[in-house]
Amino acid sequence: MTANFKDLEKWSPELNICIRCGYCYELCPLYKAHPWESDTPRAKMLLVYGLLTGDLEPSQHVAEKISECFFCKNCENNCSANVPVTDIIKEAKAALAEAGYEVDRTASTVDEDLCCRCYTCVSVCKAEAVEPDEDGQPVVDPVECEGCGVCAASCPSGAISQKDGFGVSREELRQLLLDTLRKGAQVE
Ligand code: SF4
Ligand code: SF4
Ligand code: SF4
Repeated sequence: MTANFKDLEKWSPELNICIRCGYCYELCPLYKAHPWESDTPRAKMLLVYGLLTGDLEPSQHVAEKISECFFCKNCENNCSANVPVTDIIKEAKAALAEAGYEVDRTASTVDEDLCCRCYTCVSVCKAEAVEPDEDGQPVVDPVECEGCGVCAASCPSGAISQKDGFGVSREELRQLLLDTLRKGAQVE
């Protein structure tokens, strides 16, 4: 698969002022779920830099690492160099999707069989990432989706979910609730 990531050139100054200090990952929820260097915002910036310069071959693995983000902006707010991490991530996701890679890691998906087409998800999504397709079925754009989970929490049909492995899927949240209740019962 060949791909041109020259559209990311506009971020070259910001990627160059990143001093790799690591303040960005101290409050990163994604890093808390996956405590590997490759899961930090700092690593995402390095991956994008590699795509831009051509030093890094794009791959599905690279696309997955870059597209695992909740867009909470904790990294930006903690960044000593004011690097616009989430803007860079979103544009890198778009470039990778255009090149044919899947970028749906922390994005939500709608189960068509459960969806009642109330369009609550469309109205609550601040990122404007959910739109009806030509048949009227709401569909999440994985490039625009910021993984906030508001649509999943608002859907009356329970038709929206996120993947396991990031601590936010329906089953993971259910387990967290059960564990918390059990701990509370033990304390009493
Ligand atoms: S915006 Fe993404 S990379 Fe930054 S702290 Fe939040 S989850 Fe981590
Ligand atoms: S909120 Fe749920 S049921 Fe309503 S349109 Fe969206 S996915 Fe379908
Ligand atoms: S997870 Fe958040 S950003 Fe993504 S589609 Fe749902 S409401 Fe929109």
